[in-house]
Amino acid sequence: MPSTTLERYDADAVVIGAGVVGLAIAAALARQGREVVILEKNDAFGAETSSRNSEVIHAGIYYEPGSLKGRFCIEGRDRLYAWCAERGVQAHRCGKLVVATDEGELPGLEKVAAKAAGNDMTDLEAIDGAAARAMEPNLNAIAALWSPTTGIIDSHGLMASLLGEAEDHGAALALNAPIEGGETLTDGRITLHVGGGAPCILTTPVVVNAAGMWARDVALSIAGVPNQAVPSRVLTKGNYYALTGKAPFSTLIYPVPTPGSLGVHLTLDLGGAARFGPDVETLDHNDPARLDYSVDLARADSFYAAIRRYWSALPDDSLRADYAGVRPKIDVDYAADFRIDGPEIHGVPGLINLFGIESPGLTGCLAIGDHVAGMAQRGGAAA
Ligand SMILES: Cc1cc2nc3c(=O)[nH]c(=O)nc-3n(C[C@H](O)[C@H](O)[C@H](O)COP(=O)(O)OP(=O)(O)OC[C@H]3O[C@@H](n4cnc5c(N)ncnc54)[C@H](O)[C@@H]3O)c2cc1C
Repeated sequence: MPSTTLERYDADAVVIGAGVVGLAIAAALARQGREVVILEKNDAFGAETSSRNSEVIHAGIYYEPGSLKGRFCIEGRDRLYAWCAERGVQAHRCGKLVVATDEGELPGLEKVAAKAAGNDMTDLEAIDGAAARAMEPNLNAIAALWSPTTGIIDSHGLMASLLGEAEDHGAALALNAPIEGGETLTDGRITLHVGGGAPCILTTPVVVNAAGMWARDVALSIAGVPNQAVPSRVLTKGNYYALTGKAPFSTLIYPVPTPGSLGVHLTLDLGGAARFGPDVETLDHNDPARLDYSVDLARADSFYAAIRRYWSALPDDSLRADYAGVRPKIDVDYAADFRIDGPEIHGVPGLINLFGIESPGLTGCLAIGDHVAGMAQRGGAAA
């Protein structure tokens, strides 16, 4: 058999995964003056979870006080609005109403307000039903929380702008470049085996594993990462159903959350079209290679009653199957936090693993990028 010698390259930092979080990290690392290589297994950036979400800039209402989710959401959302304004990325601060439709839901609404206060959200306003209807005449509500900071964003435009920023600072994106494994050299650097169309060996002192739902596989492919340092993977599908016809609201409408779910909520796209979801569909496997993103319209049957609690005029048969995304969770617990692990967790110098970067990862991407770039300056260690 003919023997082939693989090309060898060096980089100052390698980011595995070109989703919105990987791209934001790459931009932050490149701004530090590092020569950054971004490796993406697909033939385009942002083709997985980063393009299968609600495109909402979250305000930071629901997270556990002190959590990474809460911190990155609140810090990230303000920076994201500023970034979009500077870079010409489409975003719209349309606001959001969390609505109680009967007396029984008032304690739930109060819990939401208390959680938000714990996250230092100062602009969430409790309003009565009349005030909510003055804002949204089609709404049934006896009370609501108004979040003026919530908005929507063009996630693809955001990713293109992040890649542009990274490239302007010397980063390079390699597509069709899956990581197949790696090991630590005696000098402390990490050697990565890149497969795909142009296989090569890449050596670098800093590796950021931002592989989304594949982060577990990537981490375990790097020699020296112990099994117990890698959290489990729990994939839950979220299905969206588009409303045929004109959107009845100009803000996002969320019911009072139920345990494990934000409820059947309405979001808008930048063109003003409305969609409902995502729901929570438990899968019978946790294998990203077996995902089926098709949407079963029958699942929307239960949506009609839930939506009519806050919008009684929803016409019969007005929902159609839209798209689906899959949450890259590490626990069934809805409140499980992001994990951003350095060598103190897994023992491999220079390696930073990101796990469980579900919502609000899009909102928090710029804050996560700076946090990870700070860790890289400390050899991967958390602050
Ligand atoms: C249904 C749903 C709704 C959501 N809604 C919102 C929202 O409204 N607002 C919000 O803030 N957040 C939202 N999120 C969360 C947000 O979408 C994610 O946090 C974010 O997209 C994660 O980005 P990422 O870069 O970490 O992962 P991904 O976008 O999954 O990117 C990971 C990349 O790594 C690549 N990769 C994997 N393995 C390898 C390998 N071996 N070699 C090379 N590349 C590899 C993949 O191909 C992929 O491109 C939502 C998520 C879901 C599922």
